[in-house]
Amino acid sequence: MRTLRRKDTATLLAECEARYRALMELVPDAVWIHSGGRIVALNGAAQRLFGADSAAVLLGSEADARVPPGCRAQLEQGLYGDLALAQLQPRRAVQLLRLDGAAVDVEYFGCRLWFEHGEAVMCVARDPGERRHGTHDALTGLPNRALFLDRLAHAIRRAERRKERLAVVFLNLDKFKQVNDTLGHAAGDELLRLVAATLRGSVRDFDTVARLAGDEFVLLLDSPLAGITPGMIAERIGEQLARPVLLAGQEHVITGSMGLSLYPDDGTQAESLLRQADIAMCRAKEAGRNGFQFFTPEMQQRVDARVTLEQGLMRALQRDEFVLHYQPQVDLASGKVIGLEALLRWQSPDLGLVPPLQFIPVAEESNLIVAIGSWVLDKVCATLRAWIDAGVPVVPVAVNVAAAQFAQQDMEAMVRETLQRHALEPGLIELELTESIPLVDPEASIALMHRLKAIGITMSIDDFGTGYSNLSYLKRFPVDKLKIDQSFTRGVASDPEDRSIVTAVIRLAHSLGLRAIAEGVETERQVRLLARQGCDEIQGYYFSRPLAEDGIVAMLRSGAALELPPGGIGGQHVRMAG
Ligand code: C2E
Ligand code: MG
Ligand code: MG
Repeated sequence: MRTLRRKDTATLLAECEARYRALMELVPDAVWIHSGGRIVALNGAAQRLFGADSAAVLLGSEADARVPPGCRAQLEQGLYGDLALAQLQPRRAVQLLRLDGAAVDVEYFGCRLWFEHGEAVMCVARDPGERRHGTHDALTGLPNRALFLDRLAHAIRRAERRKERLAVVFLNLDKFKQVNDTLGHAAGDELLRLVAATLRGSVRDFDTVARLAGDEFVLLLDSPLAGITPGMIAERIGEQLARPVLLAGQEHVITGSMGLSLYPDDGTQAESLLRQADIAMCRAKEAGRNGFQFFTPEMQQRVDARVTLEQGLMRALQRDEFVLHYQPQVDLASGKVIGLEALLRWQSPDLGLVPPLQFIPVAEESNLIVAIGSWVLDKVCATLRAWIDAGVPVVPVAVNVAAAQFAQQDMEAMVRETLQRHALEPGLIELELTESIPLVDPEASIALMHRLKAIGITMSIDDFGTGYSNLSYLKRFPVDKLKIDQSFTRGVASDPEDRSIVTAVIRLAHSLGLRAIAEGVETERQVRLLARQGCDEIQGYYFSRPLAEDGIVAMLRSGAALELPPGGIGGQHVRMAG
């Protein structure tokens, strides 16, 4: 107390100033003070944050120049309380501008105070370098999902007060996977960085650009300017993206699909706006990529219907609501039924009998198809076992296999185990694969096909001609049959092109030592033409629709056969045996 009294006011003030200086330099946060619109004091962290070589560059400069115009109001918000109380603003995520014009994301708050007889504002910003971790994407430096949602939530609250609108743009690159797979991950990373820069360059500084994951980017278009619609901005982004880029030494044209959702039109919650923009983006992809779509309630209904369907399918498995119908396959040489195809139906308590095309695609996307596929094989084996035990003259049954099932590690074990459980001869089971299945990972698929073949089952290629047939692979597939797709069968009697395709497929099958079966045969004319081309088997409404178990058992017992005219229907079949 005594020492204190001995010091004069000037010394005390000098000490106070030194303490405050030391404190300002010690804190890791950027601190600066502006008064009368000019920066009047700052610490080293602020100098680094703004990218200034020395404090002198910033001292006396305009404080507003360090803030993107759209963020200024946000910085002032809550600042004008009682000056004497030095109330701190709540922290907020804002952007500041470096001297080189780059925007930096910071956590910011400020308070009002007196500075050299004038009213001033002290600003504190947390250096992004210190806490970037957790809020930013390391590859592009853009805000991540968490920070985006935080910003969006803030923007929504502000827009609510000001009666403004906001737009969320969800962008997904078209064919990014292709770039990664063909040019390598380094090129993929480079592309993502280029896209990040392009997006930043296509919007205003205070708009947020974030990277959610992979090639998913999202933009928050804040307080839209009069006359410039989000649609115009999306269009501009599309144009900028489509400019050629240099990747791995070559020019590439990259496009993206975008979905837009609007506040308050589509919703008032950050999460739901983001989800809606995502849904709209998926629709833009479906609509042929390289474009954008605005979210509509109808899109949501479709998504909801899908979710309901998925849940329905899950319950269908648990409650045993699936049933199999069987369609006969007839040998054109003998007229006899030599096989059946098992076709799945869903006997839904709410929807009635649902055909597979209404639920298989959904089951495939949700991977439920793996469980459903196992159920089908088990059911077919159990049914065959029961028929054999009851003395029904059985024929082999073909089971459709989805791509996802074929990609399962334990596919072979599953088939083997199911056959054993029902003590069934493997020759009674045929697997129908589509052309696209073996092409996902050709070598692995061919190896699996050989292992399945070794068990003793047969295989066919379904819907042949509709996929991308790679003939060099086809040669290596250990399959027994090609199934000519019904779209070609339909035209065989009327469309010369279809007839040529059918003829070519039959020849191809025979030259590879395989049998050819035409699907969807409905008329006698089709039967005659197919027979004349040397087609081995037919399947279709002409002989029989798919039948429920009772019907097919009756047919097998009765020995029903296709009535062939005397001397056969097609004349000589020229076949090169394999
Ligand atoms: P797919 O394997 O090509 O089956 C042939 C489809 O053509 C069946 O339709 C059958 O009822 C229909 N069809 C047969 N003959 C004729 C005809 O003369 N005219 C016409 N217009 N159509 C005929 P379905 O039963 O609706 O099955 C459609 C598709 O659903 C199947 O095509 C198959 O890809 C898939 N699918 C059916 N069951 C299963 C299954 O158990 N697992 C998997 N993964 N897919 C299945
Ligand atoms: Mg089939
Ligand atoms: Mg088919």
